Amino acid sequence: MKAQLLTKIGSIETNPLIYQEVPTPEVKSNEVLIRIKACGVCHSNIHMIEGEFQEFGIPSKLPIIPGHEITGIIEEKGKDVEGLEVNQRVGVQVLYESCRKCEYCTTGRENLCLSKKTTGERCDGGYAEYIVAPYDFIYSLPDNLSFEEATPLFCAGVTAYRAVKRASITFGQRVAIVGIGGVGHMALQLAKLAGAEVIAIDKYDKQLKLAEELGAEQILLARDAEAYLSKEGKVDVVMLHAPSKDAIDLSFKILKRGGLVLMAVLGNLRFSFAEEYTIIGSVMGTRKDMKETLRLASLGKIRTKWKAYNLTEANDVLLRLKRGEIVGRALLIP
Ligand SMILES: [Zn+2]
Ligand SMILES: [Zn+2]
Repeated sequence: MKAQLLTKIGSIETNPLIYQEVPTPEVKSNEVLIRIKACGVCHSNIHMIEGEFQEFGIPSKLPIIPGHEITGIIEEKGKDVEGLEVNQRVGVQVLYESCRKCEYCTTGRENLCLSKKTTGERCDGGYAEYIVAPYDFIYSLPDNLSFEEATPLFCAGVTAYRAVKRASITFGQRVAIVGIGGVGHMALQLAKLAGAEVIAIDKYDKQLKLAEELGAEQILLARDAEAYLSKEGKVDVVMLHAPSKDAIDLSFKILKRGGLVLMAVLGNLRFSFAEEYTIIGSVMGTRKDMKETLRLASLGKIRTKWKAYNLTEANDVLLRLKRGEIVGRALLIP
């Protein structure tokens, strides 16, 4: 099969991915072989490719095929696979598999499993024509969602779903979404669905235009947000979806005393006890979160913004994403 292979860590500007022929993976007894229809390009793919996750042992192998937001069609299944059929439309999320036995896995929190594998980071991912994955971490696609519409749900959607749930967002709250990228554009819709008044903040006008289309009550450029909200009223909750020091600093400047910051990105927080802030982390989503996210999308309560590119264009798409030029989610189509 053809795949985009990362052979060594390097900055996106050096075109680190090589498009080449690699062996199609073989199916183990508990796995399915999926012919990929689309794979999302996530900001965290950039962090991995550029070596920012090396301190966490990611990628755990080289060469590796990146990509962790995948939809496709089952082409083959192992002998122990239950409940899935050849030709079924399915998706693979960031959480590729977990140990299924530890205290987290047995209490519905497999996203916290210490032995979990993440797709395209600890095993080959979706920048390719095929992927194999264990059947008990595969999700059937709702009939009324196309592959392209469904694909961003498998990282951006489920990450936002869990984050909004963990932040316990409810009606009447003022909620700022900082960073309207892949995850942010989904968090915005989910926070609205929970009844919040949503204020979208980003560095770029293009992203704010999307936020407006998706129903944000207020859109603010990052550089204007502090002055505006200090005057018009600070927020009860900040959903932090931009991985930068500036975004973290801004979060505490626009938050009410006693407010909550939902942290869904890497970064170090500095804050004083005297404001009685609540800080909550959120990472990926469980299998239950994934199913609920697909259900909400199928009901039309959330929608994804995406644009398709050819798999051969991966380096270029990553570069555009790094420069803030991608609105919503870019998809690679083999
Ligand atoms: Zn992602
Ligand atoms: Zn486990």
